[in-house]
Amino acid sequence: MQWAFMFEDADGKDKEKFGGKGANLAEMVSLGLPIPPGFTITTHACREYYSLGEKMPDVLLDQVKNLLNKLEEKTGKVFGGDANPLLVSVRSGAKLSMPGMMDTILNLGLNDKTVRALCKVSDRRFVLDSHRRFIQIYCDVVLGIETKEFDGLIEAMKEKLGMKFDYELSAENLEELIEQYKGLIAEHNAVIPEDPFEQLKLAIMAVFRSWNTPRAITYRNLNRIPHDLGTAVNVQAMVFGNMGEDCGTGVAFSRNKNTGEKGLFGDFLVNAQGEDVVAGIRTPININELAKVFPEQAEELEEIARNLELHFRDMQDLEFTIETGKLYILQTRNGKRSPTAQVKIAVDMVNEGLLTRREALMRVEAEALRTMLLPQIDYSKASNEITVGVDASPGAATGAIAFTADEAESRNSAGEKVILVRTETTPEDIHGMAAAEGILTSRGGKTSHAAVVAGGMGKPCVAGCVDLKIDEHARTISVNDKVFRENDLITIDGTTGKVFAGKVPLIAAGLGDEFKEFLSWADAVRKIKIRTNADTPADAARAIELGAEGIGLCRTEHMFFDEERIPFVQSMILSDTTDEREKYLAKLLEYQREDFKGIFKAMKGCPVTIRLLDPPLHEFLPNDEDALAKVIAKFVADLPDEKRAAREEELRARVKGMHESNPMLGFRGCRLGIIYPEINRMQVRAIMEAACDVEIEGYETRVEIMIPLIGSISELECVEKELRAVATAVLEEKGRHIDYLFGTMIEVPRAALTADEIAGSAEFFSFGTNDLTQMTLGISRDDAEEKFLKEYVSMGLYPVNPFAELDFDGVGKLIEYAIKEGRMTRPTLKVGICGEHGGNPPTVEFCARVGMDYVSCSPFRVPTARLAAAQAVLRDMGY
Ligand code: PEP
Ligand code: MG
Repeated sequence: MQWAFMFEDADGKDKEKFGGKGANLAEMVSLGLPIPPGFTITTHACREYYSLGEKMPDVLLDQVKNLLNKLEEKTGKVFGGDANPLLVSVRSGAKLSMPGMMDTILNLGLNDKTVRALCKVSDRRFVLDSHRRFIQIYCDVVLGIETKEFDGLIEAMKEKLGMKFDYELSAENLEELIEQYKGLIAEHNAVIPEDPFEQLKLAIMAVFRSWNTPRAITYRNLNRIPHDLGTAVNVQAMVFGNMGEDCGTGVAFSRNKNTGEKGLFGDFLVNAQGEDVVAGIRTPININELAKVFPEQAEELEEIARNLELHFRDMQDLEFTIETGKLYILQTRNGKRSPTAQVKIAVDMVNEGLLTRREALMRVEAEALRTMLLPQIDYSKASNEITVGVDASPGAATGAIAFTADEAESRNSAGEKVILVRTETTPEDIHGMAAAEGILTSRGGKTSHAAVVAGGMGKPCVAGCVDLKIDEHARTISVNDKVFRENDLITIDGTTGKVFAGKVPLIAAGLGDEFKEFLSWADAVRKIKIRTNADTPADAARAIELGAEGIGLCRTEHMFFDEERIPFVQSMILSDTTDEREKYLAKLLEYQREDFKGIFKAMKGCPVTIRLLDPPLHEFLPNDEDALAKVIAKFVADLPDEKRAAREEELRARVKGMHESNPMLGFRGCRLGIIYPEINRMQVRAIMEAACDVEIEGYETRVEIMIPLIGSISELECVEKELRAVATAVLEEKGRHIDYLFGTMIEVPRAALTADEIAGSAEFFSFGTNDLTQMTLGISRDDAEEKFLKEYVSMGLYPVNPFAELDFDGVGKLIEYAIKEGRMTRPTLKVGICGEHGGNPPTVEFCARVGMDYVSCSPFRVPTARLAAAQAVLRDMGY
């Protein structure tokens, strides 16, 4: 078995075997580019190392020795030699890029002998500087002595000498420092082998082991990289950027990774080695200035970058070094880029004839599009980070601290920008969330109420900020010992979960022409329709602008959480008789009819699915005792004095009686409309009257009435009979004919299992995968996210959060079964999804595959869903 190959003998197309870095080095060598020579130990060797119980396969070491000999021949240097010693770098490189997650060792081959030898041919200071760097990295990676212990020694020495920068240390200082380093190693009872080959052997093993460090495992979990790939190891002759003023090192992107603009983008440092650029100790110069210092090399670099782009047909991220005037390319890879740059580069490369439209569609991460619509932190100017929570809803915002929803609303109407800071949010906070620039909570995760509602509103949210202490009474929030008051500004970044003190500069975002053009290519390819979840005309209009083709879920209860309307809802709930309830419902009817008219108009004849009331009624009443007392007092205000107290008492007891041990499985969904049919009647009347009114005004409508939480056909039939009668009555009163659809959500597993029966009554199914997931997995979302879900995912018990991405093996099976059975009964059955999963790219792909007609997601995820739907088709075609 051959475990290691010279770059020129490796297969540049086989990233699985040689890793991304190794394969690209092989490609570059075959292109005749200036690459320091070297060899790659394959990922197969790494896997073998693990299967032998963390032992090197014997023949591997023999092969490495052989290749080292070749390297010596090529460079004319000797590994461990006392005249012109060869030094190497040892770098990890897996099939898929895992930036910064695994280890790298530079300057390997240095020991007291080679240091002396090098000093004869090179600058002494440079050699000693390389030596101390080597000791530091080697100890960190191979011997497990943390680099900060060495940093402590450097800092102490610089302080003693009154110096600011490492490069100010003289050769003598460095010599003394190396002695101190050696002392530190001895304190740890460790040794760096003198024998360079032994150094190399241990380094290779350490790189193999770095495949399985906790951070690498976490990175793979987050990015869905399989754990059994293993890493390749690249051993390459060192070239030096730190030998003097005619040397340097840098990183160059072939295009701007933030904006996507054409032209080199990056940093360069004169007289420095690789890690200096990333470490940020010295401020690098802009790559565009390179031509001033190294004109020929700058031209050569530019040409190489252009050729590499043509060769790899993608934007490149290059590392290079100039050693005494000669340019070397150390590595290249496809560059990571911002969402904006992803789109711009994809579109530009199509225009340049480098990519086809279909290829370009596969180059953009669907999920990333969402963040393009929101303001972003300008990280080049960000400071004063105070803590990090869960990145719950992307985008960034600055505002003063508001402690309650009411306060957020009133301060916002007075013209102030606020961030609503709560332990967690509830449906009662909606108005405050709508008024705030962003939401910060100390509890909850990515699918907590705060996250979902903020996401739907397109507002940033940082949730689960566990370090955050909120004292509503003292009106302060604190993190560790830092205290902030109501007038203090904070900035939250829901894209990263970071929280900052004060105002941090933001960069605006929007739907540029390129973005629109790009999405039109996606529309031409995709087969599944994209709808949106929207409850207001403004949301509907926004969604249409973003490309939505209908509303898949209009949650009517959201229309009730409004300062003006909620008193009528509360009075309806407190009423004793149907007549009394109908009195308040009549008022709500007026509001709802106007809302529906606005939505129908905004949707311009696209289908609109309206769901009848779903949440448990007590969600409309305040939890807080004092606030509840006020609601009740208002309700009984007209009663004579002598009757009022007793009635208040009675109502308080009734509200208490509404408490449910398990509201998720309680008196909610279709159960409300079955027990209080007048609620359903009012809602259907409002829908049908609105549809007739706007049609009279000349608009088209496509109405779909949807019943939530059905578990059996008997429930659906009971509701259907009542509602069809109301619809017919309205149409007769108005003298119009409107073809509306009557359908149901599939949220209860029993509904999925009896889909054949349910489809006898329902003309469409919409999978409410939030509830369907809760009920199929038997876990309550809110409790799970707070208590154990994160751990479950990090322990690998669940591959991902099943409330963010569909549980394909469980919930997915139910969905497939229900679609099949439903369509057996009713071949024309329309099918969609409207849970939070509807905007999740892998879920969109699944929905397309199982034959759904549409997915529905929040307005801001519509572009993501459009692209994901196209990518689903393209992937099936082998792209
Ligand atoms: C669902 O359950 O997936 C759904 C869309 O309904 P809600 O989230 O409003 O319960
Ligand atoms: Mg639901």
